[in-house]
Amino acid sequence: MSTIDNLPPLREVINTHDLKARKSLGQNFLLDLNLTAKIARQAGDMTECDVLEIGPGPGGLTRGLLSEGARRVLAIEKDKRCLPALADIAEAYPDRLTVIEGDALEIDPLAHLTPPIRIAANLPYNVGTELLVRWLTPQEWPPFWQSLTLMFQREVAERIVAKPGSKAYGRLALLAQWRADARIVLNLPPEAFTPPPKVSSAVVHLTALPEPRFPADPDVLNRVVAAAFNQRRKMLRSALKGTAPDIEDRLRAAGLKPTERAEQVPLEGFCALAREIAKG
Ligand code: SAM
Repeated sequence: MSTIDNLPPLREVINTHDLKARKSLGQNFLLDLNLTAKIARQAGDMTECDVLEIGPGPGGLTRGLLSEGARRVLAIEKDKRCLPALADIAEAYPDRLTVIEGDALEIDPLAHLTPPIRIAANLPYNVGTELLVRWLTPQEWPPFWQSLTLMFQREVAERIVAKPGSKAYGRLALLAQWRADARIVLNLPPEAFTPPPKVSSAVVHLTALPEPRFPADPDVLNRVVAAAFNQRRKMLRSALKGTAPDIEDRLRAAGLKPTERAEQVPLEGFCALAREIAKG
């Protein structure tokens, strides 16, 4: 079988290095190099970028990123067993791949990266969501990354891109869309992975906005959105009772109806309300 590079096909790599997928590490591998190259292309032009890849595993997406022209890839992998396979890729692409062994939730990759930076990953879903939230809520904005291209469970991907009025709309949509343009760029059935997971997956591409979409204090906005969606079936005036004493007036001043429900309120409305509440 031909490959996108001169390295062996991924099935052979997995056999050679005895990389039997481990459930505890959320390992569902992509073995089709045409597919990993296609995912890599969703990250945009990488020729002038360092790409941070989390969870390279046997290296399918890593090879896609490199063959599609990433200037450099920094890959963080928790599973030691994958390191020899990744070392073979580093040898095939001299000076373009650095691998760090460790937990992406504990490693600060910044010292090893030169901007501009893009991030790409096919990660276990819980780790992916936690990292996404961290990348979207740094102290400083704009963030260190230009774009994120991440595989999620289809249902989580839908929550990231959801619009008001839909069931999937909530904190994740507001958090993502306040600071980034987010869209689903690829849908993948379970059979695209080895072993296949129980559910379908989707790749979400997020591009960082230079400024948050509407002005608001991040902490106040976060507090308001959390309160509103903790009781998403309630009217705003009762769901938000604890956030300000005169909440009905503040809702009206923000252009919102006290009888509306969180699900109906667009991002702009939540930002206007956060500004009203921040007035003290
Ligand atoms: N990217 C590869 C692919 O597409 O075939 C592997 C994908 S597999 C879904 C997830 C990978 O993330 C595994 O290689 C696993 O060992 C790694 N991983 C899991 N938790 C991690 C963590 N906290 N930090 C770094 N890597 C992690």
